[in-house]
Amino acid sequence: MSQTTEVTKLLIDIAVPLPVTGLFTYAVPAELEPKIKRGVRVSIPFRNRELIGYLVDRKEAADDISCKDIKDILDDEPVLSGKVLELTKWISEYYGSSWGEAIENALPRWVKYGKKAERALQKESIAEVVDWEKKEDFNLTDDQKRALEAIRSGFLEENPKPILLYGITGSGKSEVYIRAIRDILKQNQSAICLVPEIALTEQIKRFFHDHFGDELEILHSKLNDTERFLAWKRLESGRKRVVLGPRSAIFAPVPNLGLIIIDEEHENSYKQETNPRYHAREVAQFRAQNENAVMVLGSATPSLETMYKAETGEIVRLDLTSRIEDRPLPEVHIVDLKNSGPAFRKKGILSFPLATEIEKNLKAKEGTLLLLNRRGFSTHIHCPKCGYVEQCDSCQVSLTFHQEDNSLLCHYCNAEKPVPVICGQCKSPMLKFAGFGTEKVESEVAKQFPTARISRLDADSVRRKGSHEKILKGFREGNSDILIGTQMIAKGFDFPHVTLVGVILADVGLMLPDFRSAERTFQLLTQVAGRAGRGSQPGRVYVQTFSPDHPSVKFSKNHDYLNFYKQELPERHLFHYPPAYQLMNIIVRSREEKKVYLFSRELRDQLRKEFQGIMSGDNPAPGQSEWAQIVGPSPLPFYKLRGHFRWHIMIKFARGMKLAGRVSQCLASLRKPAAVQVAIDVDPLSIL
Ligand code: ADP
Ligand code: ZN
Ligand code: ZN
Repeated sequence: MSQTTEVTKLLIDIAVPLPVTGLFTYAVPAELEPKIKRGVRVSIPFRNRELIGYLVDRKEAADDISCKDIKDILDDEPVLSGKVLELTKWISEYYGSSWGEAIENALPRWVKYGKKAERALQKESIAEVVDWEKKEDFNLTDDQKRALEAIRSGFLEENPKPILLYGITGSGKSEVYIRAIRDILKQNQSAICLVPEIALTEQIKRFFHDHFGDELEILHSKLNDTERFLAWKRLESGRKRVVLGPRSAIFAPVPNLGLIIIDEEHENSYKQETNPRYHAREVAQFRAQNENAVMVLGSATPSLETMYKAETGEIVRLDLTSRIEDRPLPEVHIVDLKNSGPAFRKKGILSFPLATEIEKNLKAKEGTLLLLNRRGFSTHIHCPKCGYVEQCDSCQVSLTFHQEDNSLLCHYCNAEKPVPVICGQCKSPMLKFAGFGTEKVESEVAKQFPTARISRLDADSVRRKGSHEKILKGFREGNSDILIGTQMIAKGFDFPHVTLVGVILADVGLMLPDFRSAERTFQLLTQVAGRAGRGSQPGRVYVQTFSPDHPSVKFSKNHDYLNFYKQELPERHLFHYPPAYQLMNIIVRSREEKKVYLFSRELRDQLRKEFQGIMSGDNPAPGQSEWAQIVGPSPLPFYKLRGHFRWHIMIKFARGMKLAGRVSQCLASLRKPAAVQVAIDVDPLSIL
């Protein structure tokens, strides 16, 4: 049992890995005093149980409160370096999580709780040097040379500015990364390269391995606890100096960091959707600054946030404007589904021009990609007689028919229902299956081209086939002629034999009630188009759409990112959306509909009081750096998900303000019913 003690004892501040506000002060019994170091794990009594927390600071002034004693100190040496402490503190302040939660998020499980980890470490063979063949070097293009020089000059600076490498698809960005990393290794420093998880395929792993062999540590989600821990230790000790991994690799404990690369920086998977809801790009920017490293963001379709930072001079922009060997960008044809007669549109899925091109490609034995960003067979089942639509019981969204499983699936909670034979409301047997997804595209294409070998890449086929790498490998090696898929097929893959890309329906993403839907659709169309013509043969793209004049469609036709940006930016300004402003989304949810509504209003009132001083008018006055606007509460577009009713409050605010801490405190000052849950999402990527 812990006893209460006099304040003559040394006091320390502990970060607790729970959603709480602030730090907790404890006293240190004399016999533990010699073990006191910042960054060690400490066992403490906390709310009637024992908990592991992190020692983040000594308490300078001893207040005259009496504190409980800590139970034990678990480490001789800190598990957290000073830099990681600073990084996690910044995350907690920026994203409104507790410092302890941010720390837990940055550490692998075994560092958190481990004992047997030490044993595994001893067992690991020391000299497992693998031989690798060094790849032959290309002569860099002029663009590549310029980019590399600019990155190099960053290496020499005290506080280097972050860099945006804006390079069109196929312009050879990866080669620039490789050379820059090599330079960093020569300087005896380390590098971290982040890639979206989906892109962590054999292709990029092999590419990095060919270049860095035994220096390379690959972190990915399939590592088990032991493997992750060992990788961690190899990095910490400096035995491996190049890290390749998804967003969590930004926490890799490399000493002497010189370079952080974020490839395809616009990808959504860099944002974590659980607490702390961090974005790896923002974390990387802080870390790079804090450790004097260079940050390079690569993309052919940069996020508006990043391009905006380049415009305001916060980061430096470098362009790669042509494809390697001056290969042309593919020609994009827009197929207007509105104005085509019945002969033009065959069977509702493939237009005549696209079908003709597929046939040509089959004859020429060249690869074809077909994109539809919607999985399943039919997207909803409705009754033409009474209008009833089959919905998920806990989500209020329509259920998707999956033919392969012969079931109805909810794409939000994964709930499954048997396929109905009569209407759930009026019992009519005339049900209509409407809307189509990738499964249906596959079956229609197979009917139309019986000899074609077809494969499909989406969440369902990955589940059935085991891994998306298997499907991609089959396609790359020519075991299938046509690859059909969701946005998964648009990721940075390099398939030189693909000469035709077809987009079945460009409008899918435009229908979502989200202010980023135009940006996402533009990115998707431009990225998937960029998969065509990367080899010796030029490529072509056919985009089927009902909205040929929509900016996302119009500008992607010419791969024209910069003009899309110019068109989109003022619209964002007008509504005080990013990138010129920042957003905080406060999601309030509960199974009890009335409670969630009442509490949302209470919270809104409290926030208004808190931010009264900076909520002056609909627009900030010129030069006003502190400004905020509170919107809502309003029901979220998906009002009921997984049995929870959901409301949200949005705060729009001037860039650079840190509001999360104040919002957490507002929240802590209210009496929240236990049945209500609140999440704070700073810089949210999706508001559905
Ligand atoms: P991006 O990532 O910009 O879309 P990649 O880095 O995948 O482009 O490069 C496209 C292709 O060009 C790859 O097959 C790569 O091996 C090749 N490549 C890159 N740089 C050069 C170069 N300087 N000379 C010849 N080929 C190159
Ligand atoms: Zn559901
Ligand atoms: Zn009916």
